Amino acid sequence: MSEETIFSKIIRQEIPTPLLYQDELVTAFRDISPRVDSHILIVPNKHIATINDVTSDDELTLGRMITVAKRLAKEEGIDENGYRLIINCNSDGGQEVYHIHMHLLGGQPLGSMLSL
Ligand code: AMP
Repeated sequence: MSEETIFSKIIRQEIPTPLLYQDELVTAFRDISPRVDSHILIVPNKHIATINDVTSDDELTLGRMITVAKRLAKEEGIDENGYRLIINCNSDGGQEVYHIHMHLLGGQPLGSMLSL
């Protein structure tokens, strides 16, 4: 699971996906298949396959993902009503793309935390 995914190509803009944010650590863009009115992905520029693969060296990057989520939520105008941040891990967690990413979800009531 250490191979690059399509997200690395988006980060390098080899696939011309519009970016909402990019700095030296993280990149954000809209989910191609939005589940809610506002659905953004925030990803580390470095390829990390799953949350199981993070190390203490990644702590700055992981913190940046949160502060960028906060910034984008404000830009989207969803900060006051609220939103949800999700990182899925492996198959039971519902992870489909093996490059960690934080889902920023909002723009409508999100209901209960889980529906199984
Ligand atoms: P996860 O199930 O947590 O791994 O979520 C992967 C997410 O990536 C899904 O919500 C997909 O819709 C999204 N996705 C897959 N390919 C792309 C792409 N090329 N551009 C934007 N989002 C994508």
